[in-house]
Amino acid sequence: MSAPVFDLNSVILSSIGLTLTLVLVLLIFGAHQQRSLIMHWVRGLLVFGVGLAIYFLSQTSLIHGPQNVYVATSVTIIALGISLFVNGIRLLRGYRVYRYWALLVVTTLLACNAVMLNMHTPDRWILLSNLLVLMWVFGYGSRSLVGHGKDFVAHVFWLCCSLFALVSLMLAFLAVKVILGAQESLQTFSQWSMHAYMMTATMLAMTTVTSLLLLVMHVRAQAGLQAIATLDGLTGVLNRRGLQEAATRMQAVSQRIRLPMGMLIVDLDYFKKVNDVYGHLVGDVVLKACAGTIRAALRGGDVIGRYGGEEFCILMPNTGEHEAMILAERIRRIIEVTPVSIAGVESMSSDTQAIKCTVSVGSVSSETVGYGLEGLFAGADQNLYKAKQNGRNRIASNIDQLLNKPPEPGKPAKRHASLIA
Ligand code: GH3
Ligand code: MG
Ligand code: MG
Repeated sequence: MSAPVFDLNSVILSSIGLTLTLVLVLLIFGAHQQRSLIMHWVRGLLVFGVGLAIYFLSQTSLIHGPQNVYVATSVTIIALGISLFVNGIRLLRGYRVYRYWALLVVTTLLACNAVMLNMHTPDRWILLSNLLVLMWVFGYGSRSLVGHGKDFVAHVFWLCCSLFALVSLMLAFLAVKVILGAQESLQTFSQWSMHAYMMTATMLAMTTVTSLLLLVMHVRAQAGLQAIATLDGLTGVLNRRGLQEAATRMQAVSQRIRLPMGMLIVDLDYFKKVNDVYGHLVGDVVLKACAGTIRAALRGGDVIGRYGGEEFCILMPNTGEHEAMILAERIRRIIEVTPVSIAGVESMSSDTQAIKCTVSVGSVSSETVGYGLEGLFAGADQNLYKAKQNGRNRIASNIDQLLNKPPEPGKPAKRHASLIA
């Protein structure tokens, strides 16, 4: 074997330093979020570092005894460390963690080494069994890191997956060399130059994967915060801010592809009375239930948000006055016929089991007020006011304006007679 460009002992010593640095970084990060998950990686890396340290000591004159026993022990501990680290990866990804997997890895290695060393099995088989178990550990890690989808996080996972796969491949290459190598060359196995490269690649993979996993956690935490910032805490629909963002996006797309956009504002009738009679807790339950009922009545692509206290706004892509009116009526009807169960609400003192609610709906579309968001909100608000004025539990829209509008040149006039009747 040619003289190594890297000296293995120096590589191992710097790997121990790097492992401790990673542990420190993880502990600092873990102090702020997902501590239990981070601790899996910390434990894995610490055990990995101990394995490296035992290997390093076995190469010096600091400890005495049969060197091959120390090497076998260090390989076992390194494999255990990586297995624990992979368990952490699986936890992060929401995969099932097999609690005994790390134990199985250790037992396999211990059993193989103990039996083979005692039976004076040829070096080739001892080396091969150790290499195969390490390949298994890295291969399993690589499989646990496969990316799903096409987003940034998926790409990061693919990168991590390839790094672990690369280490697995290097181990496979080493295994082939062991199988094909002459007996004499196996006796100098520990001096093979490839070990230094293997160790460098392993440490590179561990460092990069740890950093990238922290990045994934950060990206997810940011996305979680963003989602919370745009959702209404009580009803789970978009809040005013989320609604405004969704409306801006939908308006831009609708205007660009010249498709109408509809908007509804739904307001619960006499809701103050619900609070006054049954209390705010029941009021909250009713609000939540109505939001759920309305959401279930929407079509794919429609967006619902809480516009005010007991008012919801619905944005509808590719929806003109006619379709908006149909959806408004569907929502009005469904709320009318779906009483909200309040049985079991703690503060309830009366025997009422369910509350019947009604809503008034203001409907509008870009066909009559244009694409401007202010115009759409104002139009829907005005129609809601009209519905309230006309007696509540009804809808109001701009359909009349549309019918009175002269047809665009070349287009036949729309017929809505059945709806107006
Ligand atoms: P109208 O038919 O004219 O809409 O009558 P209303 O009573 O529904 O309307 P009003 O604006 O007078 O009262 C709205 C009530 O909604 C007052 C407020 O206490 C209640 N409300 C607003 N937000 C919440 C909430 O988050 N929880 C509960 N329980 N009540 C709320
Ligand atoms: Mg109301
Ligand atoms: Mg209101």
